Amino acid sequence: MNDTRKIALVTGGTGGIGTEICRHLARQGRQVIAAHLAAESEQAAAWQKKQCEAGFDIALVVVDVTSFESCEAMAKGVEERFGGIDILVNCAGITRDVTLRKMDTEQWSAVLSTNLDSVFNVTRQVIEGMTERGFGRIVNISSVNGQKGQFGQTNYAAAKAGMHGFTKSLALEGARKGVTVNTVSPGYIATEMVMAMSEEIRSQIIGTVPIGRLGKPEEIGRAVAFLCDDDSGYITGADFSVNGGLYMS
Ligand code: NDP
Repeated sequence: MNDTRKIALVTGGTGGIGTEICRHLARQGRQVIAAHLAAESEQAAAWQKKQCEAGFDIALVVVDVTSFESCEAMAKGVEERFGGIDILVNCAGITRDVTLRKMDTEQWSAVLSTNLDSVFNVTRQVIEGMTERGFGRIVNISSVNGQKGQFGQTNYAAAKAGMHGFTKSLALEGARKGVTVNTVSPGYIATEMVMAMSEEIRSQIIGTVPIGRLGKPEEIGRAVAFLCDDDSGYITGADFSVNGGLYMS
């Protein structure tokens, strides 16, 4: 039985995959807080209303995960309003796909900063509290492309692969303190981004997936919630692939 007083923060919580992560954690009885960019406040409020109508009580906070100061202020605000963060899902991410020959420094830095620096910026705010309270669940959302590489994604694959090293190292630091740290690596998931591709490209992608379909966002939510369960304390430093068999390590 999970402790329902625990506080769960999901960065990128209002996104395609983030929404299902929030819903699954809410179903576990957690107090869920979805973090989003200030510029998206109007969309986030509409999103929150929709979740509420579907029976999910999810709070919102503003953050820019590329800024340490913004993450510090966000964590302080959450602590004052709800209490310390017990569960953290680092889900915010972007892509700027282009071959390395054509990649500029902005495309490199934006992807590294949003996908990898962000993991330091946010996790650094919560690790002390988790350690002191003797409980923590941290899940980093990586990608199959961080495992196998992808044409046009040197920036994204480097950032997502970097998450694995972070995960394993912090798992060692948290192991005796009740803090588990794991990575979930989705394959191709039917979010807006993937559904916006042409039918032809989508069929080509699906043709490479042994299970023969795209993943559903709820299948990622389910894996994350499992790792965040109070009873999942013996799983740490692991990478959980949810990719339809696209890549087996
Ligand atoms: P979305 O674009 O729907 O979600 C990403 C979220 O991150 C958005 O809510 C976005 O906010 C937020 N975000 C981006 N930049 C920042 C920032 N600087 N500060 C705070 N929040 C930010 O994508 P998905 O749901 O598809 O992806 C979620 C995660 O899963 C990502 O890390 C992605 O790399 C990973 N992933 C996705 C796969 C897929 O097939 N969809 C496959 C493998 C991994 P906003 O909307 O305001 O920009």
